Amino acid sequence: MDLISKLTEIFRRFPGIGPRQAKRFVYHLLTQSASDRKELAELITELSGLVKTCSRCFRFYTSNEKAKSIRECPICADPHRARESLMVVSRDVDFENIEKSGGFNGLYFILGGSVPILEKEPMKRIRIRELIERLRAETDEPVREVILALNLTPEGENTQEYVLREIAAELKDKAPKLSVLGRGLSTGLELEYSDADTIKNALKNRY
Ligand SMILES: [Zn+2]
Repeated sequence: MDLISKLTEIFRRFPGIGPRQAKRFVYHLLTQSASDRKELAELITELSGLVKTCSRCFRFYTSNEKAKSIRECPICADPHRARESLMVVSRDVDFENIEKSGGFNGLYFILGGSVPILEKEPMKRIRIRELIERLRAETDEPVREVILALNLTPEGENTQEYVLREIAAELKDKAPKLSVLGRGLSTGLELEYSDADTIKNALKNRY
């Protein structure tokens, strides 16, 4: 496979990118200056060294500290965040948009995906075990409320039902209060694309 085909193949694996768009990316890169391409390549290389996964919320964050034994992101490490409130989201992009809305001051947990309808092994799709461990473990700073902030799409709702069921089954009477985002007027809401007011309203109207 030649270089152009190889790169096209890599771009094609990106979310929402088809073969034609992938090829357009490659040709776009070819029109850029050599130094721009070099910068891109260097940034991508740095991702493996400087971007880490938080051991508490599992989100990706940039850290300049090398080989730190406890990997905690700035939000989980921030003493001013309300630690009794845990917001569960599917992906980092959802976290970013909610955080940008400024409507929430608690902590987060990234599930790492969602559960498609009729999925036989949902536990392999999302970090459900890690979430339950997290809820069990924090006895000194107990989580009193879990807010599920998942997309209001069929797959998001399927994920929500699964997570609620698992928490209730595993933690029984020790389960924290469980809330889900209010729907408001929008169905088919995707958090990644929601504006700050929609997110704040959905949070305010959680139930
Ligand atoms: Zn974190």
